[in-house]
Amino acid sequence: MINDYEVVIGLEVHAELNTSSKIYCSCKNSFGQDPNTAVCPVCMGLPGALPVLNESVVDFGAKMGLALNCHINKLSRQDRKNYFYPDLPKAYQISQADIPLCENGWIDVPVCGGVKRVGINRIHIEEDAGKLLHDDIYDGSLIDLNRCGVPLIEIVTEPDMRSSAEAKAFLDTIKMTLQYLGISDCKMQEGSIRCDVNVSVRRRGDTAYGTRCEMKNVNSFSGAVRSIEYEARRQIELIASGGTVEQETRRWNDAKGESIVMRTKENAQDYRYFPEPDLLCIKIDENRLNDIRESLPELPAEKILRYRQNYGFSDEESLLIAENMEWADLLDKCVIELGSDPKSICSRILSDIAKYQNATGKTINETGLTPERLSGLIKLIREGVISNTAGSRVLEVILEKGGEPEEITKQLGLVQNSDIDSLEKLVSQVISENEKSAADYRSGKKNALGYIVGQCMKRSGGCANPRIVRQLVEKHLECI
Ligand SMILES: [Zn+2]
Repeated sequence: MINDYEVVIGLEVHAELNTSSKIYCSCKNSFGQDPNTAVCPVCMGLPGALPVLNESVVDFGAKMGLALNCHINKLSRQDRKNYFYPDLPKAYQISQADIPLCENGWIDVPVCGGVKRVGINRIHIEEDAGKLLHDDIYDGSLIDLNRCGVPLIEIVTEPDMRSSAEAKAFLDTIKMTLQYLGISDCKMQEGSIRCDVNVSVRRRGDTAYGTRCEMKNVNSFSGAVRSIEYEARRQIELIASGGTVEQETRRWNDAKGESIVMRTKENAQDYRYFPEPDLLCIKIDENRLNDIRESLPELPAEKILRYRQNYGFSDEESLLIAENMEWADLLDKCVIELGSDPKSICSRILSDIAKYQNATGKTINETGLTPERLSGLIKLIREGVISNTAGSRVLEVILEKGGEPEEITKQLGLVQNSDIDSLEKLVSQVISENEKSAADYRSGKKNALGYIVGQCMKRSGGCANPRIVRQLVEKHLECI
């Protein structure tokens, strides 16, 4: 039954911007301060206090707009969105209604095996509200207003996604893009990115959209996936049993894995939007936009597609590298330095380097590794100066203490031994000590060869040239 229906998903992503001060006052914009200490009359909404727009917020918003191929309105307006909630002392939020900062964009999202284009309806800037803390000891709610006035952008997509996997890929790409642009901390656990999920279903082949439900309180990307799957199933079952879907706003409860109705039929009129009388229109000129455009780095979605197409990385490898800006930077610089071989750089990063970082919790910047040193090491391996295994040991020393790969190789005595005479001696000695394996090999158990080669490598401390050792072992076993 589920297969008879198509799921239609639109997302509204709220991202906190990491400007140094808040959007309409000079209070510090930082997470984790004592409750109600980063506040002033403006962000507490005291009568008579007047807002002054922080222009960095406009620059950050326009930056995201350009990254998502939006049209940037040279003149946009700020509006009051009126509603009451205890975390909103003014009883209105300054947002943008009919003339947002950015409109009509799109982004090509890398999805499994291809690309999915998602339309961006708009991006606007607005202020965040405070935070209610539900306290069991006092059996009530406490209010922390530090978050009031923290700048946000809201990114609203077109209803272009057709599965929870596409929605997840979109969210991952948005998060990476914010990180690459350096405009948000993207700390999910601190609520820097939150999203509302719009879901409707329709019979396959239908062109009209079904009635949609909006789900609030989705605090993680995995929660978004679960809420979409839950909601799609709920709607399909409702329709299949003869019911109709009502337009409603639902609260997602991730712990219980279900959503409940918050309110029905909510329209823009309910908020009584009107132009904010205490602020001027926002004006941004072409020169300023050009400066922002020129400051854009290569964006993660482009990077992933380049890794797939030009370097032959798998979907997973491309995503893993691009998600980590330090890794992507390391990889790109090493490819330039070496002129080729992106695959071997990628596998070094995803194996030895990732393993070291997991164990120590260090960022690349905190280790002794530089693109030059990693390239130098890969060159030594490529030229046969050291073996692959010895390379891992040298890399560990570089990560821990820094230093040049060539010197470390010499200090550790890891220069690869390709000298035939000494390797012949090694091989015949190892074979004479492993007569049983040698006999096994001669009786047809060909995998005994690997064991003997392994023993030779071990005896040499990893320094023997494995290719030559293998040839010699084969020769000895065949002839003797
Ligand atoms: Zn303030």
